[in-house]
Amino acid sequence: DTREAVLRFENVAIDYPKRGRVPAFRAAEYINLEIFPGEIVGLVGESGSGKTTLGRASVGLLPIAEGTLTVVGHDISHANQKDLRPLRQKTGIVFQDPGSSLNPRMPIGQSIGEPLFLAGGAKGKALDQRVQELLSSVELPTSYRNRYPHELSGGQRQRVGIARALALTPELLVADEPTSALDVSVQARFLDLLQELQQRLQFACLFVSHDLAVVDILAHRIAVMHRGRLVEQGTRDEILRHPKDPYTQRLIAAVPLPDPLAQRERRETRAASKASEGQN
Ligand code: ADP
Ligand code: MG
Repeated sequence: DTREAVLRFENVAIDYPKRGRVPAFRAAEYINLEIFPGEIVGLVGESGSGKTTLGRASVGLLPIAEGTLTVVGHDISHANQKDLRPLRQKTGIVFQDPGSSLNPRMPIGQSIGEPLFLAGGAKGKALDQRVQELLSSVELPTSYRNRYPHELSGGQRQRVGIARALALTPELLVADEPTSALDVSVQARFLDLLQELQQRLQFACLFVSHDLAVVDILAHRIAVMHRGRLVEQGTRDEILRHPKDPYTQRLIAAVPLPDPLAQRERRETRAASKASEGQN
């Protein structure tokens, strides 16, 4: 691929420093990963394998110990907080727990508009207007801007999380298990919405999940993490249907996936029903 990667890890290692009696811990090493514009890369692996660590590092929330990390054109390998400011406006992150990532004392309209306001992107009427657009883009009534997080369901709060993450139209969105706290039916709607937004806005996306069925729906490519290392990367079908690495093979064997034909039909049906909804 000759295009510039939106996210590029080159031989990256990430450490958690020693804290009190807890010794320093290398949570990721030898990480090589690229995500290109418009691409969704699924990051899978069991709990504790280092997925969240990579996700947070991707948006500058964790420093790296070794290697080179390039995010939307900035080499942030040695960045300090001030260097990261321009980057924060081009990246967004959605966390697993939609409740804890929103300020409970802030009406959701204000939460959604905050990144834009702080970046000096809009204020007053223009900001209100943008918040309303963002609410509609995540299929929430604009009247909800005056509600507080506790007045929303989990699925609705997660959609607020997405609206906030997309407020500055980022080039990279990291979604860290955004559906794990949601009921199955709500999960499907949320994934539909994320997919539709991604197709429209074409941001690159690192989608972290331990759920292979979810990455099978969303991801163009998949990277498999095991004990702090990426053991295998490839297209969705390579990883899920023809895994080469023994760890990936075990991971896949543990969850029955629909066969590729059935899954393709499912995707096409979803796309067709989306298209016809759009016409109505
Ligand atoms: P995953 O998201 O795949 O479940 P994480 O990235 O959260 O994995 O964690 C990877 C490893 O790093 C785990 O062994 C975890 O215990 C450790 N870890 C995570 N956060 C911290 C932290 N703040 N301090 C020390 N170790 C941590
Ligand atoms: Mg995690």
